[in-house]
Amino acid sequence: MNAPIVIAGAGVGGLTAALALAQAGKKILLLERAAKIEEIGAGLQIAPNAGRILAQLGLEPELNELGLEPQAINIRDNNARLLARLDLTVARERWGAPFRLFHRADLQQLLLNKVSSHPSVTIQTNARLDIFEAIKNGVNLQYKGTAGTVTLTSAGLVGADGLRSIVRDRMVNAPRDALSYAGSVAWRALVPADEVFEVFRRRESNLWLLPGGHVVHYPLRDGKIINIVVILDAPLGEDAEQEIDGDTLRKRIISHGASDGLAELISAAPLWRRWPFFVRPSLKNWTQDCVTLLGDAAHPMLPFLAQGAAQAIEDAFVLGQAFTASDISAERAFQAYEEIRKKRAQKVVAASRQQGRYFHQAGILALARNVAIGALGGKGMLARNAWLYRR
Ligand SMILES: Cc1cc2nc3c(=O)[nH]c(=O)nc-3n(C[C@H](O)[C@H](O)[C@H](O)COP(=O)(O)OP(=O)(O)OC[C@H]3O[C@@H](n4cnc5c(N)ncnc54)[C@H](O)[C@@H]3O)c2cc1C
Repeated sequence: MNAPIVIAGAGVGGLTAALALAQAGKKILLLERAAKIEEIGAGLQIAPNAGRILAQLGLEPELNELGLEPQAINIRDNNARLLARLDLTVARERWGAPFRLFHRADLQQLLLNKVSSHPSVTIQTNARLDIFEAIKNGVNLQYKGTAGTVTLTSAGLVGADGLRSIVRDRMVNAPRDALSYAGSVAWRALVPADEVFEVFRRRESNLWLLPGGHVVHYPLRDGKIINIVVILDAPLGEDAEQEIDGDTLRKRIISHGASDGLAELISAAPLWRRWPFFVRPSLKNWTQDCVTLLGDAAHPMLPFLAQGAAQAIEDAFVLGQAFTASDISAERAFQAYEEIRKKRAQKVVAASRQQGRYFHQAGILALARNVAIGALGGKGMLARNAWLYRR
């Protein structure tokens, strides 16, 4: 059968999977429900474990051009006291790739350019995967396009359709797999670098730990833009509005004990976009017959280790490798991929959740945490997460 493998979803995971599978000699049909493949205006940290893979897929020159390599991560408490400074210049030598900071749209466009110029990939936008049914050695599926419903037979289906995955819903089909609110909301904004103080423009990542929240900010696009994310614990009903102004958010982080300097940075952005966090239970299986899941669809995670996209990239690469054995069926390749990836991805999901609790501690626990971070120092803090980055 010369039917394509269908990938539903052209986020970082689906695009990287399309590239890895095409490079492994597979014919790919990539379906994206949106009219245009584009990302929201926000930053994305790509850690060495993902950077190494993107380089192996042939993207290194563009990664160097588009990404900004931060020199360090500064961890501060809410009073602006520096708890630890993690030297990131060691990453390339230690883990085979640097930490890089991207505008999401730049990485998305880079992946899209590579995928769309590959002769084995067809991309269909305005194409929402709807229903599918496994058959012997393949999958019958339907997607809704601009010209109506399209039916086709594929060699396999990869659900890379994100947190609210339809592929996952249809595969698992159980109320216990529903999304649940994780208790925190992110507020995101980009500001021109010349509108913030010099100290916020340095080529470094910054993490501020507040009682019941934290703030991350770093420069993008050769330092011209500053990406800021404010994450606060809040009951789901507290914030119904999709956007709030800088002054409202400034007051809110002051109520979380933020220092004047940090509050000043927050007021530099006039408008903040809301992003509540949701989780799903961990799945026993990602694969059923010739259908599998990848990225957030398989293992949605809280962003406290900045690893969601990185893990989707790892998935994509392993999936491509699973097909390098000649004539392997999609079902067997999908099972091999799941076998290799599931344990590690689930470990990262659990560690991300734990990191969130650690970051958001208050009172005596926060004081103890700050002492522990100070005692570990930059080297110790970097070593703590080395299991994520190493080969
Ligand atoms: C505040 C925040 C900060 C983060 N920071 C980082 C970070 O610094 N580093 C990092 O590695 N990760 C980070 N993440 C996580 C990262 O953004 C996600 O894990 C990653 O984008 C998941 O990629 P994906 O391709 O699996 O899913 P998505 O990016 O959600 O893509 C899914 C795609 O599928 C499409 N789709 C959905 N349904 C269908 C359908 N039925 N048919 C066709 N197409 C469909 C959607 O339109 C979308 O394009 C962060 C997340 C948040 C919320």
